Amino acid sequence: MSKFTQVNVPATGKTISVPTGLFINNEFVPSVDSQETIQCINPATEEPICSVVAGSAKDVDVAVAAARSALKTTWGKNVSGFERSRLLNKLADLIERDAQELAELEALNNGKPVKIARDFDIGDSVGCLRYYAGWADKIVGQSIDIDNKTKLAFTKHEPIGVCGQIIPWNYPIMMWAWKVAPALACGCTIVMKPSEFTPLTALKLSELVVEAGFPPGVVNTVPALGSVGGAALAAHPGVDKIAFTGSTVTGRKIMEAAAKSNLKKVSLELGGKSPQLIFESADIDQAANWAALGILYNTGQDCTAGSRVYVQDSIYDKFLQTLIEKAKALNIGNGFDEKSGGGPVVSKVQYDKIWSYIDAGKQEGAKCVLGGEKRPGKGYFVDPTIFTEIKPGMKIVKDEIFGPVLSVGRFKTEEEAINLANDTTYGLGAGLHSNDAGQCMRVSQALEAGTVWVNQYNLLYNNVPFGGKKQSGIGRELGSYALDEYTSVKAIQWNYGEKLD
Ligand code: NAD
Repeated sequence: MSKFTQVNVPATGKTISVPTGLFINNEFVPSVDSQETIQCINPATEEPICSVVAGSAKDVDVAVAAARSALKTTWGKNVSGFERSRLLNKLADLIERDAQELAELEALNNGKPVKIARDFDIGDSVGCLRYYAGWADKIVGQSIDIDNKTKLAFTKHEPIGVCGQIIPWNYPIMMWAWKVAPALACGCTIVMKPSEFTPLTALKLSELVVEAGFPPGVVNTVPALGSVGGAALAAHPGVDKIAFTGSTVTGRKIMEAAAKSNLKKVSLELGGKSPQLIFESADIDQAANWAALGILYNTGQDCTAGSRVYVQDSIYDKFLQTLIEKAKALNIGNGFDEKSGGGPVVSKVQYDKIWSYIDAGKQEGAKCVLGGEKRPGKGYFVDPTIFTEIKPGMKIVKDEIFGPVLSVGRFKTEEEAINLANDTTYGLGAGLHSNDAGQCMRVSQALEAGTVWVNQYNLLYNNVPFGGKKQSGIGRELGSYALDEYTSVKAIQWNYGEKLD
């Protein structure tokens, strides 16, 4: 297989040169032993885009060795925070320069609208790299007095080491940036495994890593199947930390592999079944806007998707009608069509999974009040779908669907609302809409979630921590909190006077 392929962008008539190999030591190389390839599909047309190498466990060994060597020589403790900051800023500039091309490649492989990929996913990623560029020279320890006469201790926040980073397909560029930026700021080296559904932009970004001037081996990219390359990284004795975003099922496997190998540090950003509570004092129009955004953004393929909405009885009918109107207004179509507010779902697997849930919702007796009908023709399109008359045990109420499928229930009291919201094994996001300040404070404290949005939903900022409670994950991304995930604290205890008899 050649090192690069020319990808056609039918909507623009342009071609994009995309690397197809493994990215190790700043070069695109073939697999050491695998003849397998990963075929990338355009989810809007179901047509193949191109194929890239499917890395093997041995390829992971080579990439980990490259990352270890860089950690010991050109990176890790051997590079100053100022230099790490400079390089991260340079990488951010290059991504900003190539934003349109990267957005087109993202849209082609993932399906999302080009303008959303460019203005939100890539805009946020550039901001994330710059945010952590700001931290790189400010990662400092403490000086701790022991007795003020003979002894002092101080701490150093050292890079944790070689990091395996396993990312999903819903935000391929943004998840890359969320993982890469804090790791590099802290002086770690990386073996990145993108999702087998969306490896193209991670490979394209690898070219920019070279152009920015990062030394060889600092960032390595191994496109591979999860059960092969992902599993090899999680079990690797040479990997010091795994950062993972994806399903709870896979998160469990990663933790088990970490425990059985070298007890590497693990951070997991997993699934969710996030609730939004709409109280009677809420601005109904605004709450409906946020509820629609919560479930429909990224066609519902969002770990914080607000997939359960509970509405106070007194405003239920009015709110539901408003929400249906808002959801109907979203145009789901080809990501290269300027009019599309959302794209197809990422793959046939995901499409079939979502439809199995819609069918289950109907069979279990929920009432489908919007959508729920397949479109004719090509492409993995799923229109906004809303169920009412739901019951707690139903599959659509319990499971993460990862599609534009919303369950709407009702409640009488604040206490009932809180109990319904927390009745889940997940704890990633939660939203509440109310104009009663006391209620906002009480309910936000009672909700079991890593993020609670009040009178808004799904907004993320690079300086605000993000992560889950319960089975939604371990650890935090973003903000200063993410630095803890990529550093190891060393205490140095210094005796400058005490003599032992
Ligand atoms: P997944 O968890 O299988 O994949 C996520 C990443 O993990 C991919 O890079 C994949 O290659 C890798 N992986 C898979 N098996 C692995 C293993 N045994 N060891 C190490 N890495 C492995 O998710 P999926 O199958 O792509 O999607 C399934 C469901 O997961 C979705 O329907 C959705 O509910 C959920 N999901 C959640 C998120 C999120 O952001 N929390 C993202 C994607 C998918």
